[in-house]
Amino acid sequence: MRYDTIVVGGGPAGATTALTLAKAGARVLLVERRRLPRYKACGGCLSRRVERLLPFDPSKLIEERITGLTFTWRGRDSVEATFSEPVALMIWRNTFDQALCDRAVDAGAELQDGQAIRGVRASANHVEVDLEGRTVTADFLVGADGVHSVVARDLFPDRTPPGLVALDAEVPLTSAGEAYLKGRVILDVGHTPGGYGWAFPKGGVASVGVAVDRRSAKRVQSCLTAFLSSSGFSDRGATRTTGALIPIHSHGTRSLHRGRALLVGDAARLVDPFLGEGIYYAIQSGQHAAQTIVTDGGRNGDLSSYQAAVSRTIIPELEAAGRLSRTAHRAPWLWFQVLKRRRTVIDLYRKVLMGEASYRWFEDMVWAGTPRPIVMLFSLWAGRGALSDRGQRSGSW
Ligand SMILES: Cc1cc2nc3c(=O)[nH]c(=O)nc-3n(C[C@H](O)[C@H](O)[C@H](O)COP(=O)(O)OP(=O)(O)OC[C@H]3O[C@@H](n4cnc5c(N)ncnc54)[C@H](O)[C@@H]3O)c2cc1C
Repeated sequence: MRYDTIVVGGGPAGATTALTLAKAGARVLLVERRRLPRYKACGGCLSRRVERLLPFDPSKLIEERITGLTFTWRGRDSVEATFSEPVALMIWRNTFDQALCDRAVDAGAELQDGQAIRGVRASANHVEVDLEGRTVTADFLVGADGVHSVVARDLFPDRTPPGLVALDAEVPLTSAGEAYLKGRVILDVGHTPGGYGWAFPKGGVASVGVAVDRRSAKRVQSCLTAFLSSSGFSDRGATRTTGALIPIHSHGTRSLHRGRALLVGDAARLVDPFLGEGIYYAIQSGQHAAQTIVTDGGRNGDLSSYQAAVSRTIIPELEAAGRLSRTAHRAPWLWFQVLKRRRTVIDLYRKVLMGEASYRWFEDMVWAGTPRPIVMLFSLWAGRGALSDRGQRSGSW
Protein backbone atom coordinates (compact mmCIF):
# COMPACT_ATOMS: atom_id res chain seq x y z
CA MET A 1 0.00 0.00 0.00
CA ARG A 2 1.21 3.49 -0.80
CA TYR A 3 0.63 6.11 1.91
CA ASP A 4 0.17 9.84 1.62
CA THR A 5 2.67 10.38 4.46
CA ILE A 6 4.96 8.20 6.55
CA VAL A 7 5.72 9.63 9.99
CA VAL A 8 8.76 8.10 11.71
CA GLY A 9 8.63 8.21 15.53
CA GLY A 10 5.72 7.97 17.97
CA GLY A 11 6.78 10.72 20.42
CA PRO A 12 4.84 14.00 20.80
CA ALA A 13 6.13 15.36 17.46
CA GLY A 14 5.26 12.28 15.40
CA ALA A 15 1.96 11.49 17.12
CA THR A 16 0.82 15.11 16.67
CA THR A 17 1.84 15.14 13.00
CA ALA A 18 0.04 11.84 12.36
CA LEU A 19 -3.05 12.98 14.26
CA THR A 20 -3.32 16.29 12.41
CA LEU A 21 -2.81 14.63 9.01
CA ALA A 22 -5.28 11.82 9.73
CA LYS A 23 -7.89 14.34 10.86
CA ALA A 24 -7.52 16.04 7.49
CA GLY A 25 -8.26 12.70 5.79
CA ALA A 26 -4.73 11.65 4.79
CA ARG A 27 -3.56 8.01 4.67
CA VAL A 28 -0.85 8.07 7.32
CA LEU A 29 1.59 5.41 8.51
CA LEU A 30 3.05 6.14 11.95
CA VAL A 31 6.11 3.96 12.64
CA GLU A 32 7.54 3.63 16.15
CA ARG A 33 10.70 1.64 16.85
CA ARG A 34 9.65 0.55 20.33
CA ARG A 35 6.52 -1.20 21.53
CA LEU A 36 4.11 1.32 23.10
CA PRO A 37 3.83 2.39 25.82
CA ARG A 38 7.59 2.96 25.90
CA TYR A 39 9.91 4.59 28.43
CA LYS A 40 11.48 7.94 27.47
CA ALA A 41 14.16 9.68 29.54
CA CYS A 42 12.47 12.99 30.32
CA GLY A 43 11.58 15.20 33.26
CA GLY A 44 7.97 15.05 32.11
CA CYS A 45 7.38 18.73 32.86
CA LEU A 46 4.80 20.44 30.63
CA SER A 47 4.63 24.22 30.82
CA ARG A 48 0.99 25.23 31.09
CA ARG A 49 0.98 26.63 27.55
CA VAL A 50 1.28 23.04 26.25
CA GLU A 51 -2.36 22.51 27.26
CA ARG A 52 -3.48 24.90 24.54
CA LEU A 53 -1.89 22.71 21.87
CA LEU A 54 -3.13 19.37 23.16
CA PRO A 55 -5.91 17.57 21.31
CA PHE A 56 -7.30 16.15 24.57
CA ASP A 57 -7.85 16.98 28.23
CA PRO A 58 -4.70 15.71 29.99
CA SER A 59 -6.21 15.77 33.53
CA LYS A 60 -6.12 12.00 34.03
CA LEU A 61 -2.41 11.86 33.13
CA ILE A 62 -1.27 14.62 35.48
CA GLU A 63 0.84 13.41 38.42
CA GLU A 64 1.39 16.84 39.94
CA ARG A 65 0.33 20.44 39.38
CA ILE A 66 3.19 22.88 39.93
CA THR A 67 2.50 26.13 41.76
CA GLY A 68 5.98 26.68 43.20
CA LEU A 69 9.40 27.28 41.66
CA THR A 70 12.58 27.06 43.72
CA PHE A 71 15.83 28.22 42.15
CA THR A 72 18.96 27.08 43.96
CA TRP A 73 22.67 27.83 43.78
CA ARG A 74 24.58 24.56 44.23
CA GLY A 75 21.59 22.99 45.97
CA ARG A 76 21.74 25.39 48.90
CA ASP A 77 21.05 29.11 48.66
CA SER A 78 17.51 29.38 47.29
CA VAL A 79 14.99 31.79 45.80
CA GLU A 80 11.37 30.65 45.93
CA ALA A 81 8.18 31.77 44.25
CA THR A 82 4.65 30.48 44.76
CA PHE A 83 1.76 31.15 42.39
CA SER A 84 -2.00 31.07 42.81
CA GLU A 85 -2.50 28.72 39.85
CA PRO A 86 -0.37 25.94 38.31
CA VAL A 87 2.37 27.06 35.93
CA ALA A 88 3.42 23.54 34.91
CA LEU A 89 2.07 19.98 34.88
CA MET A 90 3.96 16.77 35.56
CA ILE A 91 3.32 13.68 33.45
CA TRP A 92 4.98 10.33 32.77
CA ARG A 93 6.06 10.13 29.17
CA ASN A 94 4.98 6.53 28.61
CA THR A 95 1.30 7.30 29.27
CA PHE A 96 1.39 10.79 27.75
CA ASP A 97 2.94 9.66 24.44
CA GLN A 98 0.67 6.62 24.32
CA ALA A 99 -2.37 8.90 24.73
CA LEU A 100 -1.22 11.05 21.81
CA CYS A 101 -0.62 7.99 19.61
CA ASP A 102 -4.05 6.62 20.56
CA ARG A 103 -5.63 9.88 19.35
CA ALA A 104 -3.77 9.56 16.04
CA VAL A 105 -5.04 6.00 15.60
CA ASP A 106 -8.60 7.05 16.54
CA ALA A 107 -8.37 9.71 13.82
CA GLY A 108 -7.43 7.05 11.25
CA ALA A 109 -3.62 6.82 11.26
CA GLU A 110 -2.11 3.34 10.95
CA LEU A 111 0.34 2.72 13.80
CA GLN A 112 3.09 0.12 13.47
CA ASP A 113 5.02 -0.02 16.74
CA GLY A 114 7.96 -2.28 17.49
CA GLN A 115 9.19 -1.51 13.94
CA ALA A 116 12.41 0.43 13.28
CA ILE A 117 13.12 2.41 10.14
CA ARG A 118 16.60 1.41 8.87
CA GLY A 119 17.03 3.96 6.10
CA VAL A 120 15.14 6.41 3.88
CA ARG A 121 15.46 7.66 0.30
CA ALA A 122 13.73 10.56 -1.39
CA SER A 123 13.16 11.26 -5.10
CA ALA A 124 11.35 14.07 -6.92
CA ASN A 125 7.90 12.50 -6.54
CA HIS A 126 7.99 10.00 -3.68
CA VAL A 127 9.85 8.76 -0.60
CA GLU A 128 10.94 5.22 0.30
CA VAL A 129 11.45 3.84 3.77
CA ASP A 130 13.26 0.59 4.68
CA LEU A 131 11.15 -0.98 7.38
CA GLU A 132 12.39 -4.28 8.84
CA GLY A 133 13.13 -5.99 5.50
CA ARG A 134 10.46 -4.35 3.34
CA THR A 135 10.17 -1.04 1.53
CA VAL A 136 7.21 1.27 2.05
CA THR A 137 6.53 4.27 -0.20
CA ALA A 138 4.65 7.52 0.32
CA ASP A 139 4.25 10.99 -1.12
CA PHE A 140 5.80 12.65 1.96
CA LEU A 141 8.01 11.76 4.90
CA VAL A 142 8.18 13.34 8.35
CA GLY A 143 11.21 12.61 10.52
CA ALA A 144 9.97 12.69 14.13
CA ASP A 145 12.47 10.09 15.25
CA GLY A 146 14.16 12.08 17.97
CA VAL A 147 17.71 13.03 18.75
CA HIS A 148 19.29 10.09 16.84
CA SER A 149 17.05 10.60 13.81
CA VAL A 150 17.62 8.20 10.90
CA VAL A 151 15.68 10.57 8.62
CA ALA A 152 18.04 13.44 9.51
CA ARG A 153 21.08 11.17 9.09
CA ASP A 154 20.03 10.04 5.59
CA LEU A 155 18.48 13.20 4.14
CA PHE A 156 19.90 16.13 6.13
CA PRO A 157 23.64 15.42 6.31
CA ASP A 158 24.56 18.93 7.50
CA ARG A 159 23.50 18.14 11.10
CA THR A 160 25.69 19.13 14.05
CA PRO A 161 25.87 17.03 17.24
CA PRO A 162 23.36 17.79 20.04
CA GLY A 163 24.32 20.36 22.64
CA LEU A 164 23.65 18.95 26.12
CA VAL A 165 24.42 15.66 27.80
CA ALA A 166 21.90 14.69 30.47
CA LEU A 167 21.56 12.16 33.25
CA ASP A 168 18.12 11.63 34.71
CA ALA A 169 17.39 9.57 37.85
CA GLU A 170 14.05 8.43 39.22
CA VAL A 171 14.36 8.87 42.96
CA PRO A 172 11.76 7.52 45.42
CA LEU A 173 10.92 10.27 47.92
CA THR A 174 10.74 10.00 51.68
CA SER A 175 7.53 11.42 53.16
CA ALA A 176 9.48 14.58 54.09
CA GLY A 177 10.84 14.86 50.53
CA GLU A 178 7.38 14.32 49.09
CA ALA A 179 5.94 17.04 51.33
CA TYR A 180 8.75 19.46 50.38
CA LEU A 181 8.37 18.87 46.65
CA LYS A 182 4.57 18.83 46.68
CA GLY A 183 3.56 21.08 43.79
CA ARG A 184 7.09 22.48 43.53
CA VAL A 185 10.03 22.06 41.19
CA ILE A 186 13.68 22.80 41.92
CA LEU A 187 15.94 24.28 39.26
CA ASP A 188 19.62 24.44 40.19
CA VAL A 189 22.68 26.13 38.71
CA GLY A 190 26.31 26.02 39.80
CA HIS A 191 27.05 22.26 39.75
CA THR A 192 26.57 21.82 36.02
CA PRO A 193 28.95 23.44 33.48
CA GLY A 194 26.89 25.05 30.70
CA GLY A 195 23.66 23.51 32.02
CA TYR A 196 21.39 23.07 35.02
CA GLY A 197 19.88 20.56 37.43
CA TRP A 198 16.23 19.79 38.12
CA ALA A 199 14.00 17.96 40.58
CA PHE A 200 10.49 17.35 39.28
CA PRO A 201 7.99 15.61 41.58
CA LYS A 202 5.51 12.96 40.52
CA GLY A 203 3.77 11.84 43.66
CA GLY A 204 6.15 9.61 45.62
CA VAL A 205 8.91 9.77 43.00
CA ALA A 206 11.03 12.64 41.70
CA SER A 207 12.77 12.91 38.39
CA VAL A 208 16.12 14.37 39.43
CA GLY A 209 18.61 15.15 36.71
CA VAL A 210 21.40 17.30 35.34
CA ALA A 211 22.33 18.53 31.89
CA VAL A 212 25.85 19.72 31.04
CA ASP A 213 27.54 20.97 27.88
CA ARG A 214 29.23 18.32 25.72
CA ARG A 215 32.74 19.32 26.77
CA SER A 216 31.81 18.32 30.34
CA ALA A 217 30.17 15.01 29.35
CA LYS A 218 32.66 12.93 31.33
CA ARG A 219 31.70 14.80 34.49
CA VAL A 220 27.94 14.34 34.16
CA GLN A 221 27.77 11.53 36.75
CA SER A 222 29.74 13.51 39.35
CA CYS A 223 27.54 16.57 38.64
CA LEU A 224 24.42 14.48 39.31
CA THR A 225 25.91 13.06 42.52
CA ALA A 226 26.83 16.57 43.70
CA PHE A 227 23.37 17.93 42.91
CA LEU A 228 21.62 14.99 44.57
CA SER A 229 23.60 15.21 47.78
CA SER A 230 23.59 19.01 48.08
CA SER A 231 19.81 19.06 47.53
CA GLY A 232 19.18 16.38 50.15
CA PHE A 233 18.34 13.53 47.74
CA SER A 234 20.21 10.24 47.66
CA ASP A 235 21.17 8.45 44.46
CA ARG A 236 21.50 5.12 46.26
CA GLY A 237 17.76 4.57 46.04
CA ALA A 238 17.40 5.69 42.40
CA THR A 239 15.25 3.11 40.62
CA ARG A 240 16.41 4.11 37.16
CA THR A 241 19.24 6.36 35.92
CA THR A 242 19.32 7.11 32.21
CA GLY A 243 21.80 9.07 30.11
CA ALA A 244 20.49 10.99 27.11
CA LEU A 245 21.33 13.82 24.73
CA ILE A 246 19.21 16.97 24.65
CA PRO A 247 19.22 18.53 21.16
CA ILE A 248 18.95 22.17 22.19
CA HIS A 249 18.62 24.71 19.42
CA SER A 250 21.94 26.28 18.50
CA HIS A 251 22.41 29.69 16.94
CA GLY A 252 21.05 30.12 13.40
CA THR A 253 18.42 28.38 11.29
CA ARG A 254 19.27 25.13 9.53
CA SER A 255 17.32 23.29 6.90
CA LEU A 256 14.32 21.35 8.21
CA HIS A 257 12.87 20.77 4.77
CA ARG A 258 14.35 18.87 1.86
CA GLY A 259 12.20 17.92 -1.13
CA ARG A 260 9.36 15.74 0.19
CA ALA A 261 10.80 15.34 3.70
CA LEU A 262 10.45 17.42 6.87
CA LEU A 263 12.05 17.22 10.31
CA VAL A 264 10.06 17.95 13.49
CA GLY A 265 10.67 17.98 17.26
CA ASP A 266 13.99 16.67 18.54
CA ALA A 267 14.97 15.44 15.08
CA ALA A 268 14.89 19.13 14.10
CA ARG A 269 16.73 20.14 17.31
CA LEU A 270 13.84 22.28 18.52
CA VAL A 271 14.56 22.21 22.26
CA ASP A 272 14.66 25.39 24.33
CA PRO A 273 18.28 25.92 25.53
CA PHE A 274 17.19 27.84 28.66
CA LEU A 275 14.86 25.31 30.31
CA GLY A 276 15.37 22.22 28.13
CA GLU A 277 11.70 22.24 27.20
CA GLY A 278 11.11 20.24 24.03
CA ILE A 279 7.59 18.82 24.22
CA TYR A 280 5.92 22.15 23.45
CA TYR A 281 8.02 22.70 20.32
CA ALA A 282 7.66 19.04 19.27
CA ILE A 283 3.88 19.41 19.24
CA GLN A 284 3.98 22.85 17.63
CA SER A 285 6.36 21.76 14.86
CA GLY A 286 4.30 18.60 14.28
CA GLN A 287 1.22 20.74 13.74
CA HIS A 288 3.08 23.05 11.34
CA ALA A 289 4.43 20.06 9.38
CA ALA A 290 1.01 18.45 9.00
CA GLN A 291 -0.65 21.74 8.01
CA THR A 292 2.02 22.34 5.36
CA ILE A 293 1.58 18.85 3.89
CA VAL A 294 -2.20 19.21 3.85
CA THR A 295 -2.22 22.64 2.23
CA ASP A 296 0.90 22.97 0.06
CA GLY A 297 1.83 19.29 -0.34
CA GLY A 298 -1.43 18.44 -2.05
CA ARG A 299 -1.25 21.51 -4.30
CA ASN A 300 2.25 21.44 -5.70
CA GLY A 301 4.40 19.14 -3.54
CA ASP A 302 6.43 22.12 -2.30
CA LEU A 303 6.87 21.95 1.50
CA SER A 304 9.13 25.00 1.90
CA SER A 305 6.45 26.95 3.77
CA TYR A 306 7.10 24.63 6.76
CA GLN A 307 10.56 26.13 7.12
CA ALA A 308 9.03 29.60 6.96
CA ALA A 309 6.44 28.74 9.64
CA VAL A 310 9.09 27.36 12.02
CA SER A 311 11.38 30.34 11.35
CA ARG A 312 8.53 32.71 12.13
CA THR A 313 7.02 31.08 15.23
CA ILE A 314 9.61 28.82 16.89
CA ILE A 315 13.15 29.89 15.97
CA PRO A 316 12.95 33.46 17.37
CA GLU A 317 11.78 32.02 20.69
CA LEU A 318 14.59 29.46 20.80
CA GLU A 319 17.13 32.14 19.85
CA ALA A 320 15.98 34.34 22.75
CA ALA A 321 16.05 31.32 25.08
CA GLY A 322 19.58 30.59 23.79
CA ARG A 323 20.81 34.09 24.64
CA LEU A 324 19.29 33.81 28.13
CA SER A 325 20.85 30.39 28.62
CA ARG A 326 24.28 31.74 27.73
CA THR A 327 23.96 34.09 30.70
CA ALA A 328 22.20 31.70 33.09
CA HIS A 329 24.30 28.62 32.38
CA ARG A 330 27.70 30.10 31.58
CA ALA A 331 27.59 32.75 34.31
CA PRO A 332 25.33 30.91 36.78
CA TRP A 333 26.37 32.85 39.86
CA LEU A 334 25.53 36.13 38.13
CA TRP A 335 22.17 34.73 37.00
CA PHE A 336 21.39 33.56 40.50
CA GLN A 337 22.15 37.07 41.83
CA VAL A 338 19.71 38.50 39.26
CA LEU A 339 17.00 36.13 40.56
CA LYS A 340 17.80 36.99 44.18
CA ARG A 341 17.78 40.73 43.71
CA ARG A 342 14.94 40.99 41.19
CA ARG A 343 12.34 38.42 42.18
CA THR A 344 9.94 39.95 39.71
CA VAL A 345 12.00 38.14 37.04
CA ILE A 346 10.43 34.87 38.25
CA ASP A 347 6.94 36.29 37.91
CA LEU A 348 7.83 37.48 34.41
CA TYR A 349 8.95 33.96 33.58
CA ARG A 350 5.59 32.68 34.82
CA LYS A 351 4.02 34.52 31.90
CA VAL A 352 6.20 32.57 29.46
CA LEU A 353 5.25 29.25 31.07
CA MET A 354 1.57 30.19 30.91
CA GLY A 355 1.83 31.22 27.26
CA GLU A 356 0.94 34.82 28.12
CA ALA A 357 4.24 36.25 26.87
CA SER A 358 7.10 35.28 24.61
CA TYR A 359 10.71 34.53 25.45
CA ARG A 360 11.67 37.63 23.44
CA TRP A 361 9.52 39.77 25.70
CA PHE A 362 10.95 38.05 28.78
CA GLU A 363 14.50 38.66 27.57
CA ASP A 364 13.80 42.37 27.15
CA MET A 365 12.19 42.55 30.58
CA VAL A 366 15.13 40.77 32.28
CA TRP A 367 17.45 43.48 30.99
CA ALA A 368 15.00 46.39 31.48
CA GLY A 369 16.52 49.03 33.75
CA THR A 370 20.05 47.66 33.29
CA PRO A 371 22.48 50.34 32.03
CA ARG A 372 22.79 50.11 28.24
CA PRO A 373 26.59 49.52 28.14
CA ILE A 374 26.14 46.43 30.34
CA VAL A 375 23.27 45.16 28.16
CA MET A 376 25.43 45.68 25.08
CA LEU A 377 28.35 43.80 26.61
CA PHE A 378 26.10 40.89 27.55
CA SER A 379 24.40 40.94 24.17
CA LEU A 380 27.76 40.67 22.43
CA TRP A 381 28.85 37.89 24.75
CA ALA A 382 25.57 35.99 24.43
CA GLY A 383 25.59 35.89 20.63
CA ARG A 384 25.94 38.15 17.66
CA GLY A 385 22.21 38.11 16.86
CA ALA A 386 21.32 39.66 20.17
CA LEU A 387 22.06 43.29 19.40
CA SER A 388 20.47 43.45 15.98
CA ASP A 389 17.38 41.54 17.13
CA ARG A 390 16.80 43.73 20.16
CA GLY A 391 16.27 46.86 18.08
CA GLN A 392 13.64 45.24 15.90
CA ARG A 393 11.50 43.70 18.52
CA SER A 394 11.32 46.06 21.49
CA GLY A 395 7.94 45.69 23.15
CA SER A 396 7.03 42.57 21.17
CA TRP A 397 5.03 39.76 22.78
C1 LIG B 1 16.75 13.91 30.47
C2 LIG B 1 15.76 14.74 29.68
C3 LIG B 1 14.80 15.47 30.35
C4 LIG B 1 13.86 16.23 29.63
N1 LIG B 1 12.89 16.89 30.31
C5 LIG B 1 11.94 17.58 29.62
C6 LIG B 1 10.85 18.19 30.30
O1 LIG B 1 10.72 18.08 31.53
N2 LIG B 1 9.94 18.89 29.56
C7 LIG B 1 10.05 19.00 28.20
O2 LIG B 1 9.20 19.67 27.57
N3 LIG B 1 11.06 18.40 27.53
C8 LIG B 1 11.98 17.68 28.20
N4 LIG B 1 12.98 17.04 27.51
C9 LIG B 1 12.99 17.11 26.04
C10 LIG B 1 11.89 16.18 25.49
O3 LIG B 1 12.03 14.89 26.05
C11 LIG B 1 11.98 16.10 23.97
O4 LIG B 1 12.14 17.39 23.44
C12 LIG B 1 10.73 15.46 23.36
O5 LIG B 1 10.65 14.10 23.74
C13 LIG B 1 10.74 15.58 21.84
O6 LIG B 1 9.69 14.81 21.28
P1 LIG B 1 9.91 14.09 19.86
O7 LIG B 1 8.61 13.48 19.53
O8 LIG B 1 10.55 15.02 18.91
O9 LIG B 1 11.00 12.95 20.13
P2 LIG B 1 10.94 11.68 21.07
O10 LIG B 1 10.03 11.90 22.20
O11 LIG B 1 12.35 11.31 21.36
O12 LIG B 1 10.28 10.57 20.14
C14 LIG B 1 11.00 10.02 19.07
C15 LIG B 1 10.48 8.61 18.85
O13 LIG B 1 11.06 8.09 17.65
C16 LIG B 1 11.31 6.73 17.86
N5 LIG B 1 12.37 6.32 16.91
C17 LIG B 1 13.67 6.63 16.95
N6 LIG B 1 14.32 6.08 15.91
C18 LIG B 1 13.39 5.41 15.20
C19 LIG B 1 13.45 4.62 14.01
N7 LIG B 1 14.61 4.42 13.37
N8 LIG B 1 12.31 4.06 13.54
C20 LIG B 1 11.12 4.27 14.19
N9 LIG B 1 11.02 4.99 15.33
C21 LIG B 1 12.14 5.57 15.82
C22 LIG B 1 11.77 6.65 19.31
O14 LIG B 1 11.63 5.33 19.83
C23 LIG B 1 10.85 7.65 19.97
O15 LIG B 1 9.69 7.07 20.48
C24 LIG B 1 13.93 16.27 28.21
C25 LIG B 1 14.90 15.53 27.53
C26 LIG B 1 15.81 14.75 28.25
C27 LIG B 1 16.83 13.94 27.50
